Amino acid sequence: MNHLSAEFGCNVFNDNVMRERLPKETYKRLQNTMRDGHHLDSEVATIVANAMKDWAIEKGATHYTHWFMPLNGVTAEKHDGFLSPTSDGRVIAEFSGKELIQGEPDASSFPSGGLRATFEARGYTAWDPNSYAFIKEGVLCIPTAFCSFGAEALDKKTPLLRSSEALNRQAMRVLRLFGNEGVSSVKTTVGAEQEYFLIDAAMYEKRKDLIYTGRTLFGARPPKGQEMDDHYFGAIQPRVKAFMNELNHELWKLGVLAKTEHNEVAPAQHELAPVFTVVNLATDHNQLTMELMQRIAKKHNMICLLHEKPFAGVNGSGKHNNWSMCTNTGVNLLEPGETPYENAQFLLLLCAVIEAVDDYQDLLRISVASAGNDHRLGASEAPPAIVSMYLGSELVDILHAIEIDADYGNHEKEVLKVGVHTLPRFPKDSADRNRTSPFAFTGNKFEFRMPGSAASIADCNIVINTAVAESLRKFADRLEGADDFEKELHDVIRETIIDHKRILFNGNGYEDAWRVEAEARGLLNLKSTPDCVPYILAAKNVELFARHKVFSRTELESRHEVMLEYYAKALNIEALTMVDMARRDILPAVSDYTRGLAQSVALKNQIGASAVYESETAHRLSELMTDAFAKTQALENALINAGSRSTLDQARYYHDCVFAAMNELRVVVDEMETQTDAKHWPYPTYGDILFSVKN
Ligand code: ADP
Ligand code: MG
Repeated sequence: MNHLSAEFGCNVFNDNVMRERLPKETYKRLQNTMRDGHHLDSEVATIVANAMKDWAIEKGATHYTHWFMPLNGVTAEKHDGFLSPTSDGRVIAEFSGKELIQGEPDASSFPSGGLRATFEARGYTAWDPNSYAFIKEGVLCIPTAFCSFGAEALDKKTPLLRSSEALNRQAMRVLRLFGNEGVSSVKTTVGAEQEYFLIDAAMYEKRKDLIYTGRTLFGARPPKGQEMDDHYFGAIQPRVKAFMNELNHELWKLGVLAKTEHNEVAPAQHELAPVFTVVNLATDHNQLTMELMQRIAKKHNMICLLHEKPFAGVNGSGKHNNWSMCTNTGVNLLEPGETPYENAQFLLLLCAVIEAVDDYQDLLRISVASAGNDHRLGASEAPPAIVSMYLGSELVDILHAIEIDADYGNHEKEVLKVGVHTLPRFPKDSADRNRTSPFAFTGNKFEFRMPGSAASIADCNIVINTAVAESLRKFADRLEGADDFEKELHDVIRETIIDHKRILFNGNGYEDAWRVEAEARGLLNLKSTPDCVPYILAAKNVELFARHKVFSRTELESRHEVMLEYYAKALNIEALTMVDMARRDILPAVSDYTRGLAQSVALKNQIGASAVYESETAHRLSELMTDAFAKTQALENALINAGSRSTLDQARYYHDCVFAAMNELRVVVDEMETQTDAKHWPYPTYGDILFSVKN
């Protein structure tokens, strides 16, 4: 074994470790539980807990925690020691089956969107045996689901597992219709490419806005930005390289297959891509990746910014969610096949995704909504807020041929019939890969490009899984009852293309013309978080989630509340930070500088020397200060008037009034920055920050 494979997963209680350390019978029963999603019985839990504890202690762990994903989008942990005192004054290491399966954290401090009232602050965490336990910083972390006393989901993992179940159920119905002997389950596979910024810690510490909000609230454009494109895939700075090396090793130990790393378009921006895996593990892994990026950056005197838009005018950061479906026999179901039947199955599954994306555009948009990501969607480096799909010209031609019953390619004068004729091989790597499309087919998977860099990928995968499960359900209903399977199959595919082709768009999503066309096609353009979140409670969406047992209406209402609440809170903190910076740092600094200029003017006048520069600058800055002061007061008033409103009105108010006032103040202050001498300006500039990491 080489050192890399010895290191990989060495801190994970994975399948190999379980096989090695559990009695054969226990291992088998655990496997069955994992496969069928049944509850773990206490006998198995006790044995697993013991093995896990011994393993963890051998690896130097002293504590354990139920590691979960509350609705605030980060992961939470509450550490408990393994050691228990005995009656004769010694200590022994203890970790029972009950402690493994279930913890009882005080849930009252986590966002619940109203659900907390119904369960008297108590929350339950339950081990998700499909996610491996791991050791992080001397703590055994047990990935768990987090529910209320009434079993309502208070986290992101529970609905993600439910949505995987739903997809499995419906996909299996469809696969059975095509034969597929030996296939017993279908899982979603996901690889999340993660973008981030790295800046020097000393610069960060001088910026209140970065410290409090994760993004810069002021900052004039630097003379050099990303226009030379000299950062993208450029040579990696040694200091960044050292960070990436350490990050990779730490991730490998946790079983995260970090694979590709490169510089991104903006200065100081980078990307990490893992090898894909099953969706719930991919979600755990992405959370761990974000956590480790931040921790390890600090060790290298850098700060990792995961905010979607840390710098205005510079590309923001996203997270590309690569998604496909895979059988337990290892077949990627979005891989175009070799035979007519395989191709027919592929086309049907493709149609399922097309219908899902069209019918649930609103939910996809909601799944990526946050105050931070709103800056990105619609700016010209990220997909627009309009959801559309890119399939590439070859697939579009094939779908079109089916739609109009035309002959396609080398099928001489024959009408293309799905399931009967061999379809042409789909080229995998089409040259015209479209970077602007929110939802792009990339040969054997879909890439959803709307999620923000700070988001949990649980949210978008819950929606994709459930929406695709719904199309598959409808298809299976029709096909199972069909007298002529092939004819019905052809009709289902053809009708889906006709009904949903409006969602297909291969052009440039950044152009204004697309906005106009999308509107004519009846596609949604939900620009901001308060614009989109209310759609979560639309009847069709409540019905979808209820039908597939992913969310109850109450659970959706709670998410609606939490999302809007977080939006308003984020903007409130940003606005307060701006007021603080303007009043206490910027205006005093500029006033000081102007006083110096005015003194120079007076002194120069005494000796009859010209003071045009000092005089004009002092006048211009005084005007700007008057303006900035008025806009600071306007922002303060906007905050005072926020008052108490319903959550939705509150979020709308923050968007329409507070955010608007913030932008007005920023414009004036950024101009002031360009007129003020560098020594007086109280903060590092964009140039200082973006080019701060050298060697
Ligand atoms: P790029 O997008 O740069 O062309 P790749 O196509 O190699 O790069 O993959 C991008 C991401 O997609 C990686 O994280 C990879 O693991 C993931 N990926 C590849 N195949 C699948 C799949 N079948 N299911 C889910 N994710 C996948
Ligand atoms: Mg990609």
